[in-house]
Parts: sequence; C-alpha cells; structure tokens
Amino acid sequence: MTSFIAPGATLGVMGGGQLGRMFVHAAQQMGYSTAVLDADPASPAGLVARHHIQADYLDEQGLAQLMQLSAAITTEFENVPAHALKMLGAHRPVAPVAQAVAVCQDRAAEKQHFAGCNVPCAPHAVIEDASQISAVPDSLFPGILKTTRLGYDGKGQMRVATRADLPVAWASLGSVSAVLEQQLPLAYEVSVIVARSAAGQVVHFPLQQNLHRGGILAVTQVPAPDLTVAVQQRAIDAAERVAESLGYVGVLCVEFFVLKDGSLVANEMAPRPHNSGHYSVDACDLSQFDLQVRTMTGAPLVAPRLHSPAVMLNLLGDLWFASDEAAPREPDWAAVLALPGVHLHLYGKATPRRARKMGHLTVTAAIAEQARVVALQAAAVLGLPAF
Ligand code: ATP
Ligand code: MG
Repeated sequence: MTSFIAPGATLGVMGGGQLGRMFVHAAQQMGYSTAVLDADPASPAGLVARHHIQADYLDEQGLAQLMQLSAAITTEFENVPAHALKMLGAHRPVAPVAQAVAVCQDRAAEKQHFAGCNVPCAPHAVIEDASQISAVPDSLFPGILKTTRLGYDGKGQMRVATRADLPVAWASLGSVSAVLEQQLPLAYEVSVIVARSAAGQVVHFPLQQNLHRGGILAVTQVPAPDLTVAVQQRAIDAAERVAESLGYVGVLCVEFFVLKDGSLVANEMAPRPHNSGHYSVDACDLSQFDLQVRTMTGAPLVAPRLHSPAVMLNLLGDLWFASDEAAPREPDWAAVLALPGVHLHLYGKATPRRARKMGHLTVTAAIAEQARVVALQAAAVLGLPAF
C-alpha cells in the first residue's frame, strides 16, 4: 500500500495532452510540483508543468529523468507503452499499473475482462488473420469493425453492412487485429467514472449522458436526462466490479450503451480521467483530476458531490473554420462568456485542426433545464448543432 505522499512532492505524468494539463492544474492547486513527459515542445500539459521532459514514451533517458523527479507517476494517455509503465513501476508508485492499462489498450482483452466481471458487452468476434473472416457469425451484421489497438475518437473503425463488405473493410483498416461488433440499437449512451485507492476505497461520480457526433464526444449532460435509477445502479456496480477485479488504483471510466430494450452494455473503458468527466471541474466539489491526484498520492478518497447540474460542450477545431475560408479565425468567445454559468476551458493548442479537441465549455446552473437552455444558446453562438 502506498503511504501518503504529501504536498510539496513532485508528481509525474506520462503524456502532455489536455487531460495531463488538467491533472497538473489539480496537483498544483494542492501544492504539488509536476513533471510531464511528452515529446511535443508545445504540449498542453508541458506548457503549464514545472518540469517538461521532451522525450518519447520509450526514451530511456527521458523515463529515467521522470522517475528521478517524481515521487509517484500517473498517465493521461492510455496508449503509453505498458512496458514503460512497468519499468517506472519497479522504482516508483505508478497508478494505474501497467497491467491494468494493458487491458484497456486492447479491445479484445477489455471485452474478455468485462465478461469475466459479469458485465455484458456487444456480441463480437476477434479477427486476427484473414482465415477468421469467414468464421464470423451472420448475427454480427450489420456491424462495426474496430482495430483492437490504438483507436480513439472514432478512428480505426468502419461500419460493415454485410458479410460481403468485411474483407474490404478489414483491408482498409490495415489488416491488423480487429474486433467486429454487432451494431446495437442504442437508446442513449452513458459513462461512469470511478476512483479506487490503494487501500481499496472506491468512489464514483454520477452518471454522465454522452452524445457523440462522427464518433467523437460532443455533449455531456449531468444528471443524465434519460437515465433510470435501475440502470444507474447497474452501471455503477458494473464499473466498480471492473475496477475491483483489476485491483485498480486511479481513475477509471467505463462507457456504456443503454439499448432500446433498457439493457446495459459496456462499450469500452479508459484507465484515466475521461472527456465525459470534464464537467466535474466546475460542477462537483472534487473533480476527476483531484481524485487522480488523491489516488496516486495515497490520500483518502471521499465521494465527489455534484453541486450543480452541468452541460459540457466539446470545442473541436472545426469551430475555427466556420466558413470555407482557408485561414482559421477565433470563435466569438466574448459572446459565449456573456452567458451565465459558462466556464470556458481552452487547452493552449496553437494550431486548430478539424476534429482536434481544442477545449470545452461547461455550463452550470441551479437546475438542469437552465444549464441546458444556456448550453443551447452557447451552441447557437458558436455554430454548433442543437442537442
Ligand atoms: P473514444 O475513445 O473517443 O471514446 P473510440 O474511437 O474508442 O472512441 P468507440 O467508443 O468504440 O470509439 O465508439 C464510438 C461511438 O460509436 C460510440 O460512442 C457509439 O456512439 C458508436 N458505437 C460504437 N460501437 C457501437 C456498437 N457496437 N453499436 C452501436 N453504436 C456503436
Ligand atoms: Mg468510446
């Protein structure tokens, strides 16, 4: 068990994206120093941390430097090579551990883990070589073919309407190990974020309801408007079982589909804070990043409380290209900031690109309906579709 690492120590993070940046902010607020490992000199977290080690995830010198600086290490990027975490873990507390991250990096292993925890997931087949294509059952069509590793934001996925389309789809994903999932009739999507300490304490956030556009998270609403009490309890129990059985230490997000018949199906999980939990910074008394700091430092966990209903809108680079002009232009932030309860978060990324996560905004209000009304106004100002 980790003994408590007191403020003043340096906390390390593998990866310098926006999740790392918000982790750094939370750690700094509690009086920790921070070290980020990311090769990009302009990485969002590297820009705000005390130490920025500009090195690749497998650079031995960089990893050694991170280890020397840090009293404990976490990750903000799930595709950090598991063996880099393992190496760090031999010398420092690392949360989550390499083995748990490895399960989340592999869709097939992840689904197997869900099944082992009695958590239903989509009917699927694993395709590792061409010979397995013909063995795929008819019941999986229409389906979605997803690469086993390295997919995110809808990348590494293809819809496959019929069996005849499967060979071409598999080839276009690079003929790499993949999972064909049955396309399910979704009523809505939710996610659950839990945090588990080395002492085995587990706390959770309320369920988030998530709307995706083009495979990318677009809107998160909390409390989840369509959720029933029964589904809520099943999802929390399932996420806690998954964390327990991994012996997990850290923040874990499990994404679920709620189907039209009311059943709950686990989609995937992330061994870190999650985009759908960003609202917690502004709407909860403890954020997912505060809990990440607590789990890695061996601090006590207390249940986070939602103090305000919230709607989170993701701000993708597309917003900078409202018309077909080649040159990007800044969205009208002043108009958005004129609305009540708006918390604007921009990640310090210099170059907007379509589909790139540039920031998000969270609208908080006394009642959910008001948060939704203001979020719709903000969406209209920015040219985002209504939800
Ligand atoms: P991210 O890592 O950004 O969450 P991803 O690229 O790993 O996304 P998934 O979460 O697997 O992708 O899928 C993205 C979205 O596609 C889901 O949130 C859901 O809207 C839709 N989707 C994925 N799998 C299925 C399925 N089996 N049936 C119906 N819809 C699906
Ligand atoms: Mg997903």
